[in-house]
Amino acid sequence: MSSSDDEGGEEYLFKIVIIGDSAVGKSNLLSRYARNEFNLHSKATIGVEFQTQVMDIDGKEVKAQIWDTAGQERFRAVTSAYYRGAVGALIVYDISRRSTFDSVGRWLDELKTHSDTTVAMMLVGNKCDLENIRDVSVEDGTSLAEAEGLFFMETSALDSTNVKRAFEIVIREIYNNVS
Ligand code: GDP
Ligand code: MG
Repeated sequence: MSSSDDEGGEEYLFKIVIIGDSAVGKSNLLSRYARNEFNLHSKATIGVEFQTQVMDIDGKEVKAQIWDTAGQERFRAVTSAYYRGAVGALIVYDISRRSTFDSVGRWLDELKTHSDTTVAMMLVGNKCDLENIRDVSVEDGTSLAEAEGLFFMETSALDSTNVKRAFEIVIREIYNNVS
């Protein structure tokens, strides 16, 4: 997080990380939010480390630098550099794959191990468009989030449900934490 004065105005830069098992839709959540794009056959992200989104809160310019893994999560090799300086996190699972929900605790542990400040955290149950093959109930998501003190939202990167809202709640919470 950084804040600087610019002719009396203030600017904020927040680093946010997206974590969760492989293929839960992390990259598509980010591309939907940052570029309004969705890819049905997306391969592991190559190259792009983060995307920056600018938001106005209370007349202040807030830049969210949102980091996506390059697929390292398949090898459980997300490095400490990825987490360094993060003040917000989206922990994503796939509502149609129970195993990805069962992994959330491990991702939270890893996040907590690597962070040294308050991190605004949102539990995200993605692919809520796949209601017909749902494998994790809304109640399960809600109670895990309550137990761990996380925000919670179900999203669909495919049909855009709640994607903008999920990111903006995290960004606002970070802003509230620092201002
Ligand atoms: P990542 O490995 O977590 O970054 O996951 P990706 O973003 O690469 O997505 C993995 C697969 O799930 C891709 O085939 C996507 O098209 C698909 N996917 C991502 N988000 C959604 C969603 O909200 N709904 C559905 N039905 N499929 C999705
Ligand atoms: Mg990805």
